[in-house]
Amino acid sequence: MKLVVLGGGESGVGAAILGKEKDMTVFLSDMGTLKPEYRNTLIAENIEFEEGCHTEEKILDADIVVKSPGIPPYAPMVKKITEKGIPVLSEIEFAGRYTDAKMVCITGSNGKTTTTLLTYHILRKAGLDVGLAGNVGKSLALQVARDPHSYYVIELSSFQLENMYDFKANIAVIMNITPDHLDRYDHKMENYTKAKFRILQNQTAEDYFIYWQDDPIIAEQIRNIQVEAMQMPFSEFEEHGAHAYVKDGLVKFITPNEVWEIPRDKLSLTGLHNLYNSMAAGLSASLLDIRKDDIREALEDFEAVEHRLEYVATVNGARYVNDSKATNVNSTWYALESMTTPTILILGGKDKGNDYSEIESLVKEKVKAIICMGKDNTKLLDFFTGKVPEIYDTHSIQDAVAKCHELAETGDTVLLSPCCASFDLFSSYEDRGAQFKQQVRSLTNN
Ligand code: ADP
Repeated sequence: MKLVVLGGGESGVGAAILGKEKDMTVFLSDMGTLKPEYRNTLIAENIEFEEGCHTEEKILDADIVVKSPGIPPYAPMVKKITEKGIPVLSEIEFAGRYTDAKMVCITGSNGKTTTTLLTYHILRKAGLDVGLAGNVGKSLALQVARDPHSYYVIELSSFQLENMYDFKANIAVIMNITPDHLDRYDHKMENYTKAKFRILQNQTAEDYFIYWQDDPIIAEQIRNIQVEAMQMPFSEFEEHGAHAYVKDGLVKFITPNEVWEIPRDKLSLTGLHNLYNSMAAGLSASLLDIRKDDIREALEDFEAVEHRLEYVATVNGARYVNDSKATNVNSTWYALESMTTPTILILGGKDKGNDYSEIESLVKEKVKAIICMGKDNTKLLDFFTGKVPEIYDTHSIQDAVAKCHELAETGDTVLLSPCCASFDLFSSYEDRGAQFKQQVRSLTNN
């Protein structure tokens, strides 16, 4: 069996190692430059690879191709592979063929990483033999090859789901569906929604489907398809069919074997969005028959995830919060929703076709100043000027934080929740968040 792996990142290198372990002839090809750690691994593992090019005849000789989620289906090489009829799999699909572990799979437009890490935290704390995979942690393929577990919690992007066929999630979670990455889906929302719903394929009546009941796009899609799995929706308030909801300050969970509750104010993650994330994780754990005391304890002691509404420091009485991961309007909406003080908001970066009217009323209600931070802030300035008491144009993290420092008063929150991708000024959202934290901490040292 000849396996070709396209893309030499975490998932590609993991797939190559698993292929080799299964006695396949493996060839990895990457158009870009490999990170030194991955290049060294391939050399140490004796796996043939190339970088900076795609050797067509070698690639088209494959029996199967595992494609990194970062490579779009319309890339010329991928088109040639599919035209030749060679199956193109995602790394999760490929690895899933070599394990019988139970799979908890989480997708959605926002909240995937938080919910995945929280679910993993509960399962691990409860003593299950569990691995973390997908967009976070080590690749599933590498774990299946070298460090197998009985359970996996997997964060799935729609890009990974595109190339999944036989894989089955025992518990499938869809957090929400809002426009994101539409450029990759022909600007058609239905294509993006369909990709997310692939998480349900192959499920049977013994499996579970957890989702946010009040999401209009999910609700619409469910009306149009046949769902085989047992449905376990969650909702902010008690509603017909909801298996988790809040009543009288208590978050209630109702699963076939257990009914339990936890005070909402005991949840370690705050904000409405994190209530949803906690409900999804709590339901998953409950369906795996984890003791309710263990789940409660884990929901209470989970530490916030870096760059997601992460508290940085208090300077002159103002709290600084890093939500650099907010790269779309919806996640900034939730960040603002969770603000309980006057807020100075840092917005801006690479705009993916944002519609700022979605956050307009929250901005008017809570934001005392907007600091635009991007190469070109014209769109933000045009939209928000006149809608907030003050708005400023800055082009670097230093200037943005300095302006916040100048404006912030005791009791305010300074929130970096930019609504935009980071690539105009930073290498990634992590880089943006790290630079923000560094600037804020330097204020405390002055
Ligand atoms: P993802 O992995 O889907 O990008 P993250 O957990 O990394 O999600 O969170 C991304 C951003 O979205 C953060 O800014 C966070 O505050 C916000 N967020 C987290 N959970 C939700 C949710 N359930 N709904 C909407 N926004 C959310």
